[in-house]
Amino acid sequence: MGILRFGRSGSMRILLVEDDELLGGGIRDALERVRYAVEWVRDGALALEAMRDTNFDLVVLDLGLPKMDGMEVLRRAREIGAAVPILVLSARDTTVHRIGGLDAGADDYMVKPFDVDELLARLRALERRTRGAVVNVIRYGSIAIDTQALTVTCDARPVELQRREFMVLRKLLENQGTVMSRQQLVDNIYGWDSDLESNALDVHIHNLRRKFHPALIRTVRGVGYVVDPLPAGTPLGD
Ligand code: CA
Repeated sequence: MGILRFGRSGSMRILLVEDDELLGGGIRDALERVRYAVEWVRDGALALEAMRDTNFDLVVLDLGLPKMDGMEVLRRAREIGAAVPILVLSARDTTVHRIGGLDAGADDYMVKPFDVDELLARLRALERRTRGAVVNVIRYGSIAIDTQALTVTCDARPVELQRREFMVLRKLLENQGTVMSRQQLVDNIYGWDSDLESNALDVHIHNLRRKFHPALIRTVRGVGYVVDPLPAGTPLGD
């Protein structure tokens, strides 16, 4: 088995439009942690310009913006034929605005304040909806997991995994950068009711490290395990 190569071939390009520095910074950091390549602009005019110039995979769009209101950005973006999925952020929690946003071409809508994990989950759902089969594949460097076919490749070569090894790997890769507790991983494999087969998990982790790379899964002592996000700026996969 080849050494795990650190690449960003799986990176999604995302445009973040938010004029609040603190919130914008927090969202950008969270997105980058889960491997999105983020371009952040702080007003509506720049947002429209960016959407004209670049093909993004997703857009996160605040509504209250300087220069051009987010709703106007949305309308104009759809007018110029931008098909990119757009998730709208708004402080205005009324049904009227909700429907207004969706009518104007938003694909999803979140009301501030929101939980950043929920934002990430919604974005993943948007990816799945709009990219179909493509996003059934989770990529991490030279590893690719097909979550429909339940197959794994590394350097484009198939890797034989037991079902439970597959589930552990998938859970860790879906939550890159987030430490998964032993309990979370065990629940994921055996369901909520199970007795803790306490060393079974260690065996799966051991096997995954052996089959891929010793450094793939990091032990966080007393807590659980994590797959660290790939470092930014490293060369493409193969
Ligand atoms: Ca704002």
